Amino acid sequence: MSSQRGNVSRSRAQKHHNTTAFKNDKYGATAQVKKANLKIHNGLCQHCKGVLEWKVKYNKYKPLTQPKKCVKCSQKTVRDAYHIVCKPCSLQLEICCKCGKKEDIVIPVNSHLDKKEQEDEEREKRHRRGKKEVEDFDSDDDYDDDDDFAGIEDEENDFNRDSKP
Ligand SMILES: [Zn+2]
Ligand SMILES: [Zn+2]
Repeated sequence: MSSQRGNVSRSRAQKHHNTTAFKNDKYGATAQVKKANLKIHNGLCQHCKGVLEWKVKYNKYKPLTQPKKCVKCSQKTVRDAYHIVCKPCSLQLEICCKCGKKEDIVIPVNSHLDKKEQEDEEREKRHRRGKKEVEDFDSDDDYDDDDDFAGIEDEENDFNRDSKP
């Protein structure tokens, strides 16, 4: 197996094909594996979510036995393995729990627990965006009044009348 990482442009075909996809619960899942399989990787960027899902899938995910220190608030509030930032800090700073970078979070923290909070946030977002006003067309501008013509006609008549001897 090649140890080269990220080589996606190799020309030769893959030598070995699994006839079935790898399943980590093939021989009866342990409680730990079952728990890892159910894990929701929230508060993570696309990359880190992929890494942790990969770890779970290939039985490399080792859950924490005790909370770890968060690199942001220095409290022992990190309860997920491989995470360096706790959920509240991730939420507040809008950073990924694992790499600590300001990335787009795939599954927002607590999205499955606190739906109301998310709804409030959505509403606020909509409000901030503002309502796009529809332009008001004034169709009356297309019509010209014929009153001016009538006025000229009247003047002419008056002039003719006055010029008579
Ligand atoms: Zn924290
Ligand atoms: Zn990340």
